[in-house]
Amino acid sequence: MTSTLPSSFSPAGSAPDAAPLPVSLRLRDRLEKAGVSFLANDNIAEHLLDGELDQLEIEVAGKVRELLRSLVIDIDNDHNTEETAERVARMYLHEVFKGRYHHQPKIASFPNVKKLDEIYTVGPISVRSACSHHLVPILGNCWIGIKPGDQVIGLSKFSRVADWVFSRPHIQEEAVMILADEIERLCKPQGLAILVKAQHYCMKWRGVKEPQTSMVNSIVRGDFRHDPSLKSEFFELVKQQEALLST
Ligand SMILES: [Zn+2]
Repeated sequence: MTSTLPSSFSPAGSAPDAAPLPVSLRLRDRLEKAGVSFLANDNIAEHLLDGELDQLEIEVAGKVRELLRSLVIDIDNDHNTEETAERVARMYLHEVFKGRYHHQPKIASFPNVKKLDEIYTVGPISVRSACSHHLVPILGNCWIGIKPGDQVIGLSKFSRVADWVFSRPHIQEEAVMILADEIERLCKPQGLAILVKAQHYCMKWRGVKEPQTSMVNSIVRGDFRHDPSLKSEFFELVKQQEALLST
């Protein structure tokens, strides 16, 4: 076990001059040695050893505490921010960025025994993400269009995989591509279309402060890409679903 750890690692309780490396450094070292990408929108769950997520939570809380101190907030006497560091650490690791540190929810696919090949859309699915540049929310809706292939998954599973993918720091264009890759991996559709409409709080809350601006982007693959009528059918279905929302 210890052979996988850097030579400077020493167990707790040893001399203070040989303090253990922070868990984030051990992880980064392991990821770099394995040649694994750990960008903001990558998932690193399979590289975390047992107990490391708990250790990471403690380390992140410590760093957030330092951030609050650097912002000259009196966390020792301010009852409102007393436990903010711990809350923020939990929120990042287990909620808003859980798609980086937790495994994909288990999603079973089933053979398409009836050979269904009509397209269907699922939506709106909530988009709850954060921009990689400012770590502030990206909130909106997503629609997924499927032309089934040999495998199918349950409708609710699209929401679960979308939530997992969006719960990372992202830029919207890459989020949609990553979601498309995951859905293709799960059910290998003959055609896949995704549309995302979202508001970016880095434009609403700060910067240009444009409260109404939203970003819309889409991706079409397989038959949706090759067949323009299928593609327009998808966008028409999304329009109908949106109209239902406003009634
Ligand atoms: Zn931003």
